[in-house]
Amino acid sequence: MKGKQTKLVIAIDGFSSCGKSTMAKDIAKIMSYIYVDTGAMYRAVTLYALRKNWINEDEVETPLLIDALNDIHISFQYNEENQTNVTFLNGENIETEIRQLEVSNNVSVIAAIGEVRRHLVKLQQEFGNDGGVVMDGRDIGTVVFPHADLKIFMTADPMIRAKRRYDELTAKGDSVTIEDILANVEKRDYIDQNREESPLTKAADAVVLDNSRLTPAEQTALVMEWIKEKKEEKDV
Ligand code: C5P
Repeated sequence: MKGKQTKLVIAIDGFSSCGKSTMAKDIAKIMSYIYVDTGAMYRAVTLYALRKNWINEDEVETPLLIDALNDIHISFQYNEENQTNVTFLNGENIETEIRQLEVSNNVSVIAAIGEVRRHLVKLQQEFGNDGGVVMDGRDIGTVVFPHADLKIFMTADPMIRAKRRYDELTAKGDSVTIEDILANVEKRDYIDQNREESPLTKAADAVVLDNSRLTPAEQTALVMEWIKEKKEEKDV
């Protein structure tokens, strides 16, 4: 039937600190879709494990963590005032804490655990059941929504990514060095691409978006063009 308005599933994958979430949020707002930050979910599990002292120098008390997965309740709330999603862990606002370097430094080892991934992927698939969702992460177009309507694979030069993350953290008053951030970005790229469980990889049908030299406004405009094309294909 002509005029049917299909709600798309938009999957955004790519390297750390590429600005995936900024772009995903913009797109979700323009389209009035739900935005799901899957990295925040892996960060929430990491924070839970850190607080329990279950991570020591990249060694994780994996059986204890697996047993606890059903006690880890992650939710998001939209904050009208600063127009962002806030992440909650068992009812506690953890948005600030999960962005700090301690969590960033430990999240990739947690995200490499198969049971953690399967648990979170199931929740992510529930969020996207009815379409009208923009989800960002590392395995959205390959594992979570292999049939997504639009798949975008984002990348940018590591130094440019480190500088962006540095500016973001120092603006919040965190005392960090660009060297530490670059090391973290490179370490996460390595672990994310080389883990056994759902490694970060571009889906065959994803479009590549290298935003090293694009402003946020330019990339949003580009993605909106892609969305328009996909919607025209589907709204028949
Ligand atoms: O997107 P963000 O940088 O917040 O993600 C934090 C970490 O969580 C990534 O470095 C990656 O190890 C992991 N992650 C993942 N799969 C996803 C989302 C994030 O493995 N879908």
